[in-house]
Amino acid sequence: MADARARRIAQFIEPLRVAPGSTVDLAGDFDPRYKAAMSKGEGVALLAEGVELLAEYQARLAAQDSRGVLLCLQAMDAAGKDGTIQHVMSGLNPQGVRVSSFKVPSDEEIDHDYLWRYACRLPRRGEIGIFNRSHYEEVLVVRVHPEYLRRQRLPQESSDPGVWERRFREINEWERHLSDNGFSVVKVFLNLSKEEQRRRFLSRIDRPEKNWKFSSADVRERRHWDAYQRAYSEVLSATSTEWAPWYVIPADRKWFARICAAAVLGHALMEIDPQYPTVGEQAREDLKTARRELEREAPDARSRAVGG
Ligand code: ATP
Ligand code: MG
Repeated sequence: MADARARRIAQFIEPLRVAPGSTVDLAGDFDPRYKAAMSKGEGVALLAEGVELLAEYQARLAAQDSRGVLLCLQAMDAAGKDGTIQHVMSGLNPQGVRVSSFKVPSDEEIDHDYLWRYACRLPRRGEIGIFNRSHYEEVLVVRVHPEYLRRQRLPQESSDPGVWERRFREINEWERHLSDNGFSVVKVFLNLSKEEQRRRFLSRIDRPEKNWKFSSADVRERRHWDAYQRAYSEVLSATSTEWAPWYVIPADRKWFARICAAAVLGHALMEIDPQYPTVGEQAREDLKTARRELEREAPDARSRAVGG
């Protein structure tokens, strides 16, 4: 039963996975409107099932306390990162999850090497860490806006045109290090179409309760759409590895994107297959002793003792 479920999930996410070593052309290879052969009703039911599965595995991950999971979420604005986090995590125990959002780096962050701030927010063993934007911003927004790279004050010899190839290699090695040491790195790109982004921005402008979500900076960033598509294509090609593959999730339908994200995370947890620790001989004896002591304290046993 569990195996059949694992197989179904593996099959479902296979078309989303970027094969390590492949060359990705985002626009040509991945359709933001893809939804398998699923209706929204089926999807909503499936998500509820998926959230339950995540809760079950998270409890085991926390109890086992030896492995951790890092889920990295990347996307263009309005692709639904926040909603995805909210829905996928809805059934989880908040004590075992830490969500970190990465914005423009602070002065303290910029005074360190570019991976420092991400390393500071990694999950502990037993935890699921979620990066809302991640170290991949360092080869995306920083690449699209060269002034951000200048702000990082790299030594001259490190800021030549080879900087992006070098960062890809360093990121792959860092993720390998994490994975070798018990932390699975799960990478998801919410792939939104330019037209759907336009519609969502318009809705944020037109509906007062959504105004707070809109920033004019988002429209400025949209002007760099093509540069981002190119940068994403290169990132997906260079950093989808056997130990930390990328999944490109169609994001034009929010309900479908959420199912995919839950399935990708569920798959990673099933691969770990965490187990509740079993107790040894001595600990089992201690449990029996404790049980006897607690039974003796039962109110009816006490009143019987007093009465008779
Ligand atoms: P939302 O808009 O849904 O609240 P967000 O993740 O877009 O979420 P914002 O505060 O709008 O959050 O934007 C954060 C900005 O910080 C993004 O434009 C992102 O590209 C930028 N950013 C993230 N990391 C870096 C970095 N290392 N250098 C420069 N800019 C960065
Ligand atoms: Mg934003």
